[in-house]
Amino acid sequence: MKNLLIIVLLLFQQQLFAAEVNVYSARKEALIKPLFDQFTEQTGIDVNLVTGKADTLIKRLEVEDKNSPADILITVDVARLIRGKEKGLFQSVNSTILEETIPVHYRDSNKEWFGLSLRSRVMVYAPDRVTDDELDSYIDLADETWKNRLCVRSSSNVYNQSLVAAMISNYGIEKTKHWADRLVGNFARPPKGGDRDQIKAVAAGICDVALVNNYYLAGMLESSRDDEVTAAKKVKLFWPNQDGRGAHMNISGAALLKSAKHKNEAVKLLEFLVSDAAQQWYADTNHEYSINQKIKSNSILKNWGDFKADTLNLSLLGKHNTDAVILMDQVGWK
Ligand code: FE
Repeated sequence: MKNLLIIVLLLFQQQLFAAEVNVYSARKEALIKPLFDQFTEQTGIDVNLVTGKADTLIKRLEVEDKNSPADILITVDVARLIRGKEKGLFQSVNSTILEETIPVHYRDSNKEWFGLSLRSRVMVYAPDRVTDDELDSYIDLADETWKNRLCVRSSSNVYNQSLVAAMISNYGIEKTKHWADRLVGNFARPPKGGDRDQIKAVAAGICDVALVNNYYLAGMLESSRDDEVTAAKKVKLFWPNQDGRGAHMNISGAALLKSAKHKNEAVKLLEFLVSDAAQQWYADTNHEYSINQKIKSNSILKNWGDFKADTLNLSLLGKHNTDAVILMDQVGWK
């Protein structure tokens, strides 16, 4: 009888300890933690969060292998999710909720990663020096007209690698290389800083057009720093490729790890992250587009209007990542 009681107590204790999920996140704590708190409140499942740089977390997962305490990896840019998949870090998830909410081109065909939010790589321009009818597609930025007028961050940045990978998917390596070569020739300065710095450079007159992710501009417009608001107000957003395939899109996303010891809790968390409430938070707070089409955009995003998004299957961005990196290096994109 006493033994039975001990077994029951142990089982109860195990259940108690099992009500948690461990997340490795390349998103900053402030951009994800409030959602986890909501999840814990709703489900009683604790979320333990480790944040770090995406590549560092992926390396750590490789080293920890099946002993990793992590259940979920959250990161930005699909190229990194595909890197994780290629390294065999993930397992597939069967979830009707995830499949019904996330459009097919924003999740893995083998159900190993899922997009959680959407962003577009857009153009920002100085309206006193550029009119919007001068702008069109990414391809056109290679034209002579833009000589010494472009700002773009470094080729080590995964957002640019994915844009170039999308170009390779659409135009092939040779045409993309020719384009990138001429694009680099149009740079106003050697690449430096992040996307916000490119916006500031356009505002400061260093260049006339920059390529940036949409949420940086929105974040600057709502910034608590006056210099960021002032700079952001001096530039305008332009949606590229509207007469072609549409603007280049990417995701932040997540995957269930092979090492997951809290699989049920982890899948519940993934499903929560695509729920209406969580998706509304992404739109309002992170200035991203919701992966769930029903959700209304933040007012700044709404002001930018509707746009045509490229529906390229994002798996192709991972497939062409290495070629993109090599090509950018060959054309001298620093
Ligand atoms: Fe970013």
